[in-house]
Amino acid sequence: MRVPRDFLEKAKAVACHRNSDRWDLLYRILWRLAGDEKHLLELHGDPQVLKLNDYARTVAREVHKMKALVRFRAVKAGVAEGADDPRYVAWFEPDHDIVGYASGFFRRRFAGMRWSILTPRACAHYEGEGEVWFTGGVGREAGPEADEFEEAWRLYYGSIFNPARLKVRAMLAEMPRRYWKNLPEARLIPSLVEDANRRLAGMRALTKSSDEMQCGPRPAAPETSASARLTALQQGSLEHLALQAAGCRRCPLWEPATQTVWGEGPPDAPIMLIGEQPGDQEDLLGRPFAGPAGRLLDRALAQAGLDRRRLYLTNAVKHFKFKSRGKRRLHEKPLDIEVLACLPWLQAEMARVKPLLVVCLGATAARALLGRAVKITEERGRLLNLPVVDDAGSVRPTLLLTFHPSYLLRLQEAPAAADAYEKFVADLQLAKQVGAEGDE
Ligand code: SF4
Repeated sequence: MRVPRDFLEKAKAVACHRNSDRWDLLYRILWRLAGDEKHLLELHGDPQVLKLNDYARTVAREVHKMKALVRFRAVKAGVAEGADDPRYVAWFEPDHDIVGYASGFFRRRFAGMRWSILTPRACAHYEGEGEVWFTGGVGREAGPEADEFEEAWRLYYGSIFNPARLKVRAMLAEMPRRYWKNLPEARLIPSLVEDANRRLAGMRALTKSSDEMQCGPRPAAPETSASARLTALQQGSLEHLALQAAGCRRCPLWEPATQTVWGEGPPDAPIMLIGEQPGDQEDLLGRPFAGPAGRLLDRALAQAGLDRRRLYLTNAVKHFKFKSRGKRRLHEKPLDIEVLACLPWLQAEMARVKPLLVVCLGATAARALLGRAVKITEERGRLLNLPVVDDAGSVRPTLLLTFHPSYLLRLQEAPAAADAYEKFVADLQLAKQVGAEGDE
């Protein structure tokens, strides 16, 4: 029997719909497709096709909500024997039986982590490798309690809330009330909405008074400033931050990308290398510097006498930005606004690792940290002082700018290639000297 691929895709979704007539509907449509109505799915006015599309859309919406609204909490108790790292557990109450259907997404997004998603009708579990496995549903009491990081995240959500952009109807469409009880940040919504007009009036008054004054003393930073957000982020472990970043929606780059590519390396690394953004292979593998540029970097590191395993490698932007050209995905430079949106994650990594030296590979990372345009050819190879990263001033690494390995790859045929590569290795040797202090 042959049926259109579209039917198979829709049937997978419709099979998750909780209405008991779904099997009857699928069987009737299958019967007609297998008979002499091969183009049945093109008859959009047909009552059965209408219902099929409606059920498939409902399930797709529910899956979208699950991807956006599942909140993991670190749970120490109940870990498998011998495992020290926590399991990340989420409680979710979907309207349809989508746990199996959506589990592939979570497996890709949270590859390398041990997690469970518990729901009343089915539970999905993953051990950081292998296949997702399933058990029957459980009650709410089996779900995780708030962890120690929850308060920090509430502070964070409160601080990114912009009253000037509040659209209650759009917000309710994206985050319907029935999900609120399981979202840590949702408890804040009523008071934030109530407070919005007052905060908006305050913002207008502030703008007016600074217009009138032209200049003068800066108003005191509000409680929910970027520094408060950063403090909130700093309280989690790198692993916990990675988990939170995996669900980040602060800019549109998350959507077409496969996953957030978080940094990797020892949490006490004396040297942190920061690139621009993950490339095609990094996006698929979920690791920074895993593609051709990474291989060139590895070669240069070895020549400079640096051990990659002792370095913390990350990117200024955590999602791959690309444009599709046929089957290929071509790198696109991130916009300043995207780099800025991702900066709190980078600052949080720096605040956690506290490197002695930060090496910016390329202009995007340099611009993110220095807040100004940088010409790498002019400024590379010199040690600079980086403005403080955290409020306490405890993170104040030295900064070194150098080429991005992708730039060197692009140069490969050019006469300047050998010279640029030599300079790159020399910069890494300088990094080794500075970092050696932290390694002692
Ligand atoms: S690029 Fe950064 S800010 Fe944008 S969605 Fe990804 S993690 Fe969030």
